[in-house]
Amino acid sequence: MGIKVVKFGGSSLADAEHFRRVAEIVRNDPKRRYVVASAPGKRTSDDVKVTDMLYHCYELVHDGKDITEYYNRIIERYNSIIRELQLDFDISGELEYIRNAILHHSGQDFAASRGEYLNSLILAKYLKFDFIDAESVVFFRDNGSYDEEKTNSVMRTELQKHRNAVIPGFYGVMPNGTIKTFSRGGSDITGSIVARAADAELYENWTDVSGFLMTDPRIVKDPLPIKVVTYRELRELSYMGASVLHEDAIFPVRNAGIPINIRNTNEPDAPGTMIVSSSGEYDANRIITGIAGKKGFSVITIEKDMMNSEIGFGRKILDVLEDNDVSFEHLPSGVDTMSVIVSSAALECNNRRERIVSSINKRVRPDSVVIEDGLALLAVVGRGMVKAKGTAARVFDAISAADINIRMIDQGSSELNIIVGVEDSDLDKALNAIYHEFVK
Ligand code: ASP
Repeated sequence: MGIKVVKFGGSSLADAEHFRRVAEIVRNDPKRRYVVASAPGKRTSDDVKVTDMLYHCYELVHDGKDITEYYNRIIERYNSIIRELQLDFDISGELEYIRNAILHHSGQDFAASRGEYLNSLILAKYLKFDFIDAESVVFFRDNGSYDEEKTNSVMRTELQKHRNAVIPGFYGVMPNGTIKTFSRGGSDITGSIVARAADAELYENWTDVSGFLMTDPRIVKDPLPIKVVTYRELRELSYMGASVLHEDAIFPVRNAGIPINIRNTNEPDAPGTMIVSSSGEYDANRIITGIAGKKGFSVITIEKDMMNSEIGFGRKILDVLEDNDVSFEHLPSGVDTMSVIVSSAALECNNRRERIVSSINKRVRPDSVVIEDGLALLAVVGRGMVKAKGTAARVFDAISAADINIRMIDQGSSELNIIVGVEDSDLDKALNAIYHEFVK
């Protein structure tokens, strides 16, 4: 029988009621043998995540302030879960130990990691699963980078000793024994690591939405859910701001060919979104998988007669950006013009704007170099575009029918996406126009 690794996010484990739902989901399928847990998330929109409370405790200690009252609120979050689940489980010793460790400057990452540690202890007890502490199976190197090979080998051996287990997400251990966390939202990464080490057939990532939507619901009303998305499409969409899953969670399972299924704990019957390596299925009605949009870009346009025949021109421009520590997003170019799209925020600090213009003037002696702000980028992403003719025309027609001026066009050579630049103020209108062109 295959194995499914299931990860539950903070909102799925925020209170006892959610713990019950989680247990039902896990028990419904015996393949769900390994569970990765986050710390308790928000119960209501104005609630505070336990991870944030722990970070705050760390800061209070750092500022020489008392944590008693604040820490008691954390204790109560866990105790209320235990009480309402009617578990015969006493974690007061653990809570006391953690309080002391935080008071004795055990480090920010240690403090933050205790949210998943405690939640996983409780969940393991409730599910009657074994508990595997992430600090014994997830490793970082001295320089702080994640040690994938060591983790995979130790985790693999450990999992084989347990029929069922709960593993806390988000953290691991440094060679000197201190705790280190991944970046925020990092329990997704732990789930992916466990799925790889377990040779799972599926990595289920349970959250509070039924998968990805085709576009931003704050801009387009009730967008359709995405049933299947490839890793490459997802990368394009998340780069542009669609976020449900931590970006680094993709790599361990992607390399191992394990699909990810994004599911909703509050709507367990919904199929959610499947993220797969490749999908051969072609639906002429769904050429577009998703549309993402992001504001806040600037265009650096460099013009020079006969630029095209000047060898090394592009490299020199990119050198200037590199020297100023600015990465570029896109590089559409014409015969005698080259445009570099960068994030406007990156230009703002340390007078970079002026430095870049003057360095470009010095290095390539252009006829002109101009920086324009206020650009929004739209990425129209779909593996179906390779087979469908006229997609670009439909995108541009929809935008022009909405009376929007296109400032830039860039089609990736993979034919997986078309990037369109419009004025910041036109983004919402453009997103709606394209969505309704493809979804009737
Ligand atoms: N609890 C951590 C955070 O809030 C990690 C996670 O939930 O994935 O970022």
